[in-house]
Amino acid sequence: MSAPSYKELDTTYIAHTYGRFDVCFEKGDGVLLYDTTGKEYIDLGSGIGVTAFGSADALWQQAVIHQVKRLNHVSNLYHTLPQATLAEKLCQKTGMKKVFFSNSGAEANECAIKTARKYSADRYGDERTTVVTLVNSFHGRTITTLAATGQDVFHQHFHPFTKGFAHVPANDFDAFKQLVDSDSSICAIMMEMIQGEGGVMPLDAGYVKQVADYAAAHDILVVVDEVQTGNGRTGTLYSYMQFGIAPDIVSTAKGLAGGLPMGATLFNDKTEGVLDAGSHGSTFGGNPICAAGAVSVIDRIDDALLSEVKAKGQYIREALTGAPGVLSISGMGLMVGIETTADAKAIANECLNRGVVVLTAKNKVRLLPALNIPRDTLKKAVGILKEVIGEMA
Ligand SMILES: *Cc1c(COP(=O)(O)O)cnc(C)c1O
Repeated sequence: MSAPSYKELDTTYIAHTYGRFDVCFEKGDGVLLYDTTGKEYIDLGSGIGVTAFGSADALWQQAVIHQVKRLNHVSNLYHTLPQATLAEKLCQKTGMKKVFFSNSGAEANECAIKTARKYSADRYGDERTTVVTLVNSFHGRTITTLAATGQDVFHQHFHPFTKGFAHVPANDFDAFKQLVDSDSSICAIMMEMIQGEGGVMPLDAGYVKQVADYAAAHDILVVVDEVQTGNGRTGTLYSYMQFGIAPDIVSTAKGLAGGLPMGATLFNDKTEGVLDAGSHGSTFGGNPICAAGAVSVIDRIDDALLSEVKAKGQYIREALTGAPGVLSISGMGLMVGIETTADAKAIANECLNRGVVVLTAKNKVRLLPALNIPRDTLKKAVGILKEVIGEMA
């Protein structure tokens, strides 16, 4: 009898929470992926924006392997050098003051929410607890971050959800203002500068600025969820840097450690002292291996790389704008949403057949390629994608 296939094992033993593509990847090399039959693919998805420098990147590997051989874990009862180094780099590059490390985007957001509530409780008592988020947002899969997520489809099955969230439509300043004026329980507003899972929908810069200014005037904290948009993805280290605001709290994850699970929540001078000893924690958070991977990622996100990210994003937009079957293009840098006449999921499947990995978000094809994707490889993959979109139009 032959060994069971990955599909049989998956069907038998893995909880069926994902609608998976019919492919089993075995190895990667930069932006190339290889499946178990040896077929090669160009990866424009980076494992949902995680492998910031591609698969098995040599510099990242070196940093991680060096750390694997020295010290893998001691817990947060003790100091470790990679974590301390990473915190310094994140603060120096952003002007934020302190960092809390966790293991995922949802956890980074949980920490942001806890911090916002405690900030308010410390100053205004226990009644000022509501965190405002935007309709069509996505903030994670825990009960609390699902409650924060401004999409009704996520508010089924798991009742009761955490209380204390209000959702307002994006790009509608009056709706936010009216809520703040009529509800004294608001302690924070949390938003993605580009709603990723919501279909790669950037917020208007003017709206973001108005909201941030009004919030600041009312001592309402501004929390920016940079889980997907962060770590160079949009052409700046964090996307808020292109919106002219200075957030009180920033959460990030996905690309931060280049393929290892890591979340980070950054605090400014207003919020740096809110979480005190014992008020929050994580067993794995900031562990030396993930931190070493993240240091190598953050070190490489310099001005030269960021201008390449912008230029390559621009290339994708120009190559696809007006192409047959393309209705519109959204996003910033190497975070790109493509609205197509054909079904996005069907396009993703056909691209996979032809050796190109793309993502979807809502009704759009979504691209989150490695930040250092070579131009010729990008050109080849975008050519195939364009062909598929055109043929299926
Ligand atoms: C992916 C994502 C999350 C959740 O991150 P996990 O690591 O899956 O918990 C939260 N917010 C945004 C904006 C995301 O894109």
